[in-house]
Amino acid sequence: MNKYEVISSPKRKRGIPGSLVLVLVFIIAFAAAGANIELRRSVEENESAVVLLLRFEGLAYQLSAFEWESISEGQISSEIVEGVQSTRDEMEQIMGELEQLYPNSENLRLVRQFYATYNSAITEEFKLITAGDLNQARLVDEQQVDPAFVVFIQALTSDRDAYSAKANQVENINSFGSLLVLSFTVAAITLLLLRFQKAQTAIEEAAAEQKALARHQEDFRLLNEMGNELRICPTVAESYTVIANYAQRLFPNVSGALYIINTVDGIFETVITWGETPPELPGRGLSPDKCLALRQGQIYTSEDSTSHGGLCPYLGQPKPEDYLCVPMLAQGKTLGILHLRRSKSLQTSELQSADAMVVLKRELSETVAEHIALAIANLKLQETLQYQVVRDPLTSLFNRRYMEETFKRELDRAARRKMDIGIMMLDIDNFKHFNDTFGHMAGDAVLIKLSSLLRAFVRGEDISCRYGGEEFLLILPEASLQNTHQRAGQLKNEIQCMSVNYQDQLLSGITVSIGIACFPEHGDTIESLLFAADSALYRAKNEGRNRLAIA
Ligand code: GH3
Ligand code: MG
Ligand code: MG
Repeated sequence: MNKYEVISSPKRKRGIPGSLVLVLVFIIAFAAAGANIELRRSVEENESAVVLLLRFEGLAYQLSAFEWESISEGQISSEIVEGVQSTRDEMEQIMGELEQLYPNSENLRLVRQFYATYNSAITEEFKLITAGDLNQARLVDEQQVDPAFVVFIQALTSDRDAYSAKANQVENINSFGSLLVLSFTVAAITLLLLRFQKAQTAIEEAAAEQKALARHQEDFRLLNEMGNELRICPTVAESYTVIANYAQRLFPNVSGALYIINTVDGIFETVITWGETPPELPGRGLSPDKCLALRQGQIYTSEDSTSHGGLCPYLGQPKPEDYLCVPMLAQGKTLGILHLRRSKSLQTSELQSADAMVVLKRELSETVAEHIALAIANLKLQETLQYQVVRDPLTSLFNRRYMEETFKRELDRAARRKMDIGIMMLDIDNFKHFNDTFGHMAGDAVLIKLSSLLRAFVRGEDISCRYGGEEFLLILPEASLQNTHQRAGQLKNEIQCMSVNYQDQLLSGITVSIGIACFPEHGDTIESLLFAADSALYRAKNEGRNRLAIA
């Protein structure tokens, strides 16, 4: 008998063995996961390109504001020189980072090229301003700098839009990839269920990751959108509402406040709060020596207060569970604080999403704060410049340049609608004598008081302008000659009753002479109307001052 007798041959299974299926499923799942990681990296790269370009754009506007300030002031202060230098440095750094990220991008090459053209036009303009050749500088500004800026910004925004679109596009593929991974994982796990436990956890983890990814994508989209809205805000005050609105969407179930520095006394005033339990402050705002984030010049969180024992004195009641304060810096100066806090009264499910705030959203809050700071700094600069460009610094009345632009518009409008415009030209009587008697400072006080009287006297749509030293011009749209004459009489009397308190002296007896003209009776151009009013004023002076004369 054979020692090695075959007793029975094993039954061969038909079809593909289960273990092979399992291996195949795993191979496909790993391949999909690998592709997915690659795609996610691409999304992240595109997103960071958009964030960098947003900052670059903010800095570009800052640069243009500096250039604008220089040309309208006709000189370049040392502050502007420093500001321009640091803005250019920062832009150069960002461009470098972008080029490293996308070494072969044609769009970036164009942005770089247009930026260079714009930059050299500014340099040329600055050279001319420094040399005192303002006419030539204005010509360069109009013919080179302004057009170069427009082209540059167009290239910049289209590049940013391209990256943004790419990030979204790749993100869609990415979501599909994640879905694929998820399905394969589920399939594999179902097969494995017989042998392994804890499959549930793996499924949950995959789903959680998918959710986190979607949230991240949403944050990024909101950030981009907020940047765009802030840029078109007409005033700083309006930007606060936009910020509060986006903060609530970026940090759901989280309350917060925005503090902005008052440059007069250095207090960080509360400009807006949001959420269910915003901080309540005993005073007006944060004092920089008591606020821990301001003192350290960096983000301060509830974790810091636990580990270092320093409790923020501004927490108020009820104390928040978690909070963070991010200093907002622009141009190396602290402009404000972004404060976020988690409410205690949240439901468990809400708590979970808010829970991640301090740890997970710390980075996001810093990016948000940086965006806000840059946008507010730009808006503030623009507002100041706008004010300086159209107002007379002593009296805050409109200046001549603004008056001429507006007068032209009013004339066109009145011609179209067949309406009148009344014009008064005022000149203080014997003002030289007044200055000689009481001093130039007392004269200034009279000019200021008279200007505020003029502002109160006219209607909202009227234009009150300081035409020259002690000469003023009032333009009254829709006022007839008779109407203007009557109003001028009232004004003359009000000025005569006016008294000015100067260094404990009550100065009074100021009188004015007023020349009156009207559209269309006395002319249909700015020049002819101003000439008519001026001639009437001259007559009023000749006839003895303190009186009215009609052209
Ligand atoms: P008239 O009645 O003919 O207008 O006499 P006047 O002395 O007012 O006219 P004149 O043109 O001889 O002098 C204008 C004066 O206004 C001279 C100048 O010192 C003064 N003045 C112009 N601008 C200012 C200013 O900004 N502040 C002060 N304090 N005085 C000014
Ligand atoms: Mg005068
Ligand atoms: Mg005068």
